[in-house]
Amino acid sequence: MDNDLDLKFLAIGDSGVGKTCLLNRYVEGNFNEKLAPTVGIDIRDKSLSYKSNETNKIFNIHLQLWDTAGQERFRSLTSSFFRDAMGFLLVFDLTSETSFINVRNWITEIQSNAYSENVDMVLVGNKSDLNDQRIISKARALEFAAQYQVDYIETSALNNINVGESVELLLRSVMNRLE
Ligand code: GDP
Repeated sequence: MDNDLDLKFLAIGDSGVGKTCLLNRYVEGNFNEKLAPTVGIDIRDKSLSYKSNETNKIFNIHLQLWDTAGQERFRSLTSSFFRDAMGFLLVFDLTSETSFINVRNWITEIQSNAYSENVDMVLVGNKSDLNDQRIISKARALEFAAQYQVDYIETSALNNINVGESVELLLRSVMNRLE
């Protein structure tokens, strides 16, 4: 496999779960209180190097991170949005039951639009800083993740907890499959 790789990842999940803030934190390293939800699609780029656990080979990865509009555009995402996507961050808000319930619908959406055998997903419970308002327990999220055989991670875009780790987890799954 070539040492230079272009990979397309999508952040998907209900409006308001923090997809834009997570990607901003990851790519730009900051947190901007965002008032208007993302309309349409936002694309960000990040280059990084990745070392294979198997072979110790170093890859230069060019990540394209796509951010979706949320629930208001549910089922209206076009196939071009999913085209060539290798990995999905399935984001929900730990303080929102609905956003967690809807992850199942987002997975269905992925399965009907993407080549599901060729994609990896990581379940991301965001807003871990709001622990006193938490509704989705870690055990419940882990059980769901196990059902779908995906990894689970809890993040806070606000406090910069596990944000890079969530993308790296997804990257590792994708690379393990590709290598
Ligand atoms: P999106 O619609 O999924 O892209 O969500 P946004 O990134 O626009 O975030 C929705 C709201 O949640 C905004 O008011 C953010 O400031 C807030 N938010 C995002 N991430 C976090 C987080 O980790 N912790 C807290 N407390 N708020 C967050």
